[in-house]
Amino acid sequence: MSSRPLILYFGSFNPVHAGHIAVAEAALRHFGGEADLWFMLSARNPFKTEAEMWPDERRWALLQAALDGRAAMRACDWELHLPRPSYTVRTLEAVRAREGADRPLFLLMGEDNLPRFTQWRAYETILDWCRVLVYPRASADEPAEAAREAVPQLQASLSAYADRFILLRGVLYPQSSTAIRAQAAAADPVTPIMSATPIMSATPAAAATPAALIGHAPADWAQCLQWRGEKAQALREAARQVKLQTVGREVYLRGLIEYSNICRKNCYYCGIRAGNPAVARYTVTEAEVLAAVENAYRAGFGSIVLQSGERQDRDFIETVERLLKAAMRLSDGRLGITLSLGEQTLETYKRWREAGATRYLLRIETSNPTLYAQLHPADHRFADRLKALEALQAADYQVGSGVMIGLPGQTPEDLAADLAFFRDFGIDMVGMGPYIEHHETPLYARRHEIPTLAERYELSLNMLALLRLIMPTVNMAATTAMASLHPRGREEALRVAANVIMPNITPARYRGDYFLYENKLCICESERDAKDRIEALVQAAGGEIRYFEKGDPQHYFERLAPSDEP
Ligand code: SAH
Ligand code: SF4
Repeated sequence: MSSRPLILYFGSFNPVHAGHIAVAEAALRHFGGEADLWFMLSARNPFKTEAEMWPDERRWALLQAALDGRAAMRACDWELHLPRPSYTVRTLEAVRAREGADRPLFLLMGEDNLPRFTQWRAYETILDWCRVLVYPRASADEPAEAAREAVPQLQASLSAYADRFILLRGVLYPQSSTAIRAQAAAADPVTPIMSATPIMSATPAAAATPAALIGHAPADWAQCLQWRGEKAQALREAARQVKLQTVGREVYLRGLIEYSNICRKNCYYCGIRAGNPAVARYTVTEAEVLAAVENAYRAGFGSIVLQSGERQDRDFIETVERLLKAAMRLSDGRLGITLSLGEQTLETYKRWREAGATRYLLRIETSNPTLYAQLHPADHRFADRLKALEALQAADYQVGSGVMIGLPGQTPEDLAADLAFFRDFGIDMVGMGPYIEHHETPLYARRHEIPTLAERYELSLNMLALLRLIMPTVNMAATTAMASLHPRGREEALRVAANVIMPNITPARYRGDYFLYENKLCICESERDAKDRIEALVQAAGGEIRYFEKGDPQHYFERLAPSDEP
């Protein structure tokens, strides 16, 4: 059993902030760093409203994230599991049972707690078991003056225990949980949550961004991506809070039409690559595309996505242009139209933009040029892909991109660099999901080099969560590939970070032939069933579908009109 002093810092940490950390550091300094400190999270008072006291899971997630990487500090959730009501003495009993009665215990508390201390259950026992580290309290939560006046009174009643109290000096308590919660509930959609995410630095500048949680550099992100279990939950919970404060609970529908599986390219990972002779090639007829568009529009889909294999011939370009114009006509220009038709010239992009498309999805696939070269034949150049993305921005599209997660040869550092790429390039919409092997592709030969399905799923959720923290206002899709990996994959993606879902509205007879990867989810039910399922899925994720709304990414407007604020 350890004889190292153990400091117990009880509190609701509602939410944890720089002030708490400063107090904890001061307490550790008192022992010259030769002590451990546990943050003992108290259970939610059932009589408090959610605005007054955040739910246990939320406070717990933020606390864990805030303490990550702080060697001497750890979060402890025992009080959430011990019988109610919670009494400090009962929790101390549990600590002594585990740590041994000889381990020196220290209770860390603010001086404002002292006046009421003699009303604590079995306070004498507590003082027998622990010494008390008292820190001066100067916060907006409770005026310090009132507490100080009560101290002499207390000293009298506790005189027999005077030596049990140690006053910590030089502690600043610069923050107030009340103020942070008020900010989080305020109208400003972006800044409040930045303060409400765990603030681990006492300096306001560093505290003002979610970087406080995930670090500033891609090297930190590479670490976060590998978090699993409780740490991953904390990361995802923080992302969820940022999502709720920025893009909110709203979920937008994009009806996905897999227009054609004819492709001129030969990407090594893709089942419909030109070199796969086993594919029955199709192109949906114009009449069928327009019927699907009209159905979707009537059903309240705010936008549709036209996706296909890559073709650059004149006939293809003109047909797409005609389809765009017809779709705009049938919806009186109200439908949002996204294209995902691969690399094209600036001229083609402009032409389609003028015909009515406002968004374009073109994945970078990986931001590592060396890895890109391993995934494609030599004539599919990374530089061309970048140029195409630049052309899309120049043609004034809302630009979407993404990567595949769990590719052979891909490292956490590559994935972290992908996130930096989205940020630095100014991508407005992100669709990323796991790489899933396809047995008729060249990359299948490297299937032993990739993470397990479960690992790819975890990694993908962490990617989504991190991106939501790094780019709070982008639109993010819960991809079909997520659903193919896990029955609740899309639901979890929506819960944590995504705000867009793309139900497949391709006419049923073509669906089985757009086979990019194995086990691709092929919804073969009627439209009606599909709609009910999507609604249930979004609801289970705590979201709310916005019918008849395009749901343009906030990020696009911010990109066009950057704010003056630092
Ligand atoms: N031809 C267009 C659009 C269709 S492919 C294009 O390439 O942009 C759309 C996306 O499917 C690709 O960007 C790729 O990221 C994804 N995809 C292809 N094969 C995949 C696989 N085996 N696993 C996961 N995603 C895959
Ligand atoms: Fe064609 Fe797109 Fe598949 Fe590449 S990923 S082979 S461009 S459909």
